[in-house]
Amino acid sequence: MRYISTRAEDKTQTFSASDAILKGLCPDGGLFIPEEIPHLPSISLDKGLWWAMYEALKPYFEGDELEGDLESICHDAFSFPLPFHENNGKDYLELYYGPTAAFKDFGARFLAFSMEKLLAKRGENLSILVATSGDTGGAVASAFHNREHLSVKVLFPKGRVAERQRRQLTGWDGNVESYEVDGSFDDCQRMVKEAFMDSSLTGLSSANSINLGRLLPQMAYYVYASNLYLAKYGRKAVFIIPSGNVGNATGAYWAKAMGAPIESIVLAANANKPITDYLESGEYRPRPSVKTLANAMDVGAPSNIERLFALFPDYDSFKANVSAYSVSDDEILRTIKEVYDETGYVICPHTACGERVRRDHVESQYSVVVSTAHPAKFNDIVEPLLGCTIAIPKNLYDIMQKPSKAKEIAADYHNIF
Ligand SMILES: *Cc1c(COP(=O)(O)O)cnc(C)c1O
Repeated sequence: MRYISTRAEDKTQTFSASDAILKGLCPDGGLFIPEEIPHLPSISLDKGLWWAMYEALKPYFEGDELEGDLESICHDAFSFPLPFHENNGKDYLELYYGPTAAFKDFGARFLAFSMEKLLAKRGENLSILVATSGDTGGAVASAFHNREHLSVKVLFPKGRVAERQRRQLTGWDGNVESYEVDGSFDDCQRMVKEAFMDSSLTGLSSANSINLGRLLPQMAYYVYASNLYLAKYGRKAVFIIPSGNVGNATGAYWAKAMGAPIESIVLAANANKPITDYLESGEYRPRPSVKTLANAMDVGAPSNIERLFALFPDYDSFKANVSAYSVSDDEILRTIKEVYDETGYVICPHTACGERVRRDHVESQYSVVVSTAHPAKFNDIVEPLLGCTIAIPKNLYDIMQKPSKAKEIAADYHNIF
């Protein structure tokens, strides 16, 4: 299996999965995609999540230097459950039982364990730089903590992340360092960019959501979940996916293209809706992001859109395969309340976008709303609305007990080296 760039015209320059994972971005600035989407192998559901994920990932590593390590990487990285919350066929897929209680744990952990194996083989070390406005940094810090040959520097803007998020960014020691930057998230991003351009600094890498190593596990859990759903109800499900950078959804499209039993895929956006607008107008226009209650989806220019355009290159095929709807902050609040009043089930603001889209736009009785984060991560929104306290899951609680450590620095990247 070889990988090419979304931007390559001649398609003759190809890369191995391992090189794609270590590089992150193609040399021409495009994103890595498989030369050809492989056919779905047979998937066993009785050996647990990690084994099914391994089976789904295997064809993507055929002939790769990680091929022989893939089984143990999957075993170590996917060591938590992935349950459905059943609701008469209108189920939820709870992707939030990893260490930081959001779906990004799957990708971040697979990336960290894969990089660790590769660097050990090659006798190299890497330092990962992450600028974060909240969730991504926590998942990356947790995944890379104590991984050999790797260190992590997390930059976050002082006073601009929620207290629980801050604890997830700063509760680390050893190979993970946190920097509280006197500036905005944009300053943090600028510092990372400047560090990458500084040729005196070597051995730097990123762990962005566009990295192939983060995307592939998101394909694999859709293979697993769609097969499990089919086994349970005898029907294929419509998957409704709360989306921002559309990395999670791209995983689902790859799974469907392989032949996973998925009826269709529907994207649920917040007020940031470049894809909805494209579907309506036929003209794709990225925009500046606007702030919403589902803040992990505040993306006006989704980075993974290039991968969707590679799958569905013209407007007609895009329209035939992709549907997307936008949900306002008022609707997010109303939906969290509606679901709680009807069933006692609590969902996070991102998941609420998915549920609103299901209620307003999806007719099938057989659908799955993807729950992207545990509601306890967004207690400041959900608790006052519902008038109840949400128990913190053990994984988050454990991080919160660790002593918080961060270096306060001015917004200049020289302060982190
Ligand atoms: C990152 C994130 C999303 C958006 O996922 P994309 O892959 O960027 O579309 C949705 N919900 C939560 C909780 C997230 O952390």
